Amino acid sequence: MIGIFLGAPGTGKGTQAKILGEKLGIPQVSTGDILRQAVRDKTVLGLKAKEKMDAGELVSDDIVIGLVNERLALSDCNGGALLDGFPRTIKQAEKLAGIIEKSTKPLDFIVNIDLDDETIVERITARRVCPVCDAVYHLKHKMPSKEGICDNDSSDLIIREDDKEEIVRERLRVYRDESAPLIGYYKNSDGYFNIDGSKSVNEISDEIYLLIGKLG
Ligand code: AMP
Repeated sequence: MIGIFLGAPGTGKGTQAKILGEKLGIPQVSTGDILRQAVRDKTVLGLKAKEKMDAGELVSDDIVIGLVNERLALSDCNGGALLDGFPRTIKQAEKLAGIIEKSTKPLDFIVNIDLDDETIVERITARRVCPVCDAVYHLKHKMPSKEGICDNDSSDLIIREDDKEEIVRERLRVYRDESAPLIGYYKNSDGYFNIDGSKSVNEISDEIYLLIGKLG
């Protein structure tokens, strides 16, 4: 099974991909997480990607497609994967179609999570992350047990460079220009769903689980 999570930054697609992945026993593949790990490891690719990521721009299609290709070939993806943050351009979607065609795993569903820009900005600027394990917290809705400290590894939580308001607005502009056209690309495919991202995390995850259960 391959599932795709579409949506602007801050709509909750990462949270939902993680929850569904745990329910289905298949990995969430987040290109953002893979790139941030490369930046932390200071690999050549990470160094190339960092500037773009900090500015809220997209990393080149070729780099990201290469990463996804490698990631999907790992054995934990034998039963499929939930793609979070990929594809983000039409070119990436076309390459993904080629990867899926060559594999034995079908594209089962595409979930688009919809949310207005002001709610997104309010949500993202209240986000805090663990620089070590990438766990995501929120100042109102998902506080760590100890203020400012990660529950998993006790690291000090930080604001991601690209979660600062000015950069968030740039990411939203990039989303409208580069990624929103993916809705048109996928919307007539079998298994395409649009979800209202203003509902609670639990309501959305139940809705997605129900919709996927109804598929073929
Ligand atoms: P995310 O955590 O998904 O919001 O991704 C953080 C940043 O990583 C983005 O703002 C981009 O700079 C980069 N990135 C993640 N996924 C992609 C992708 N599919 N294509 C290009 N850049 C990406």
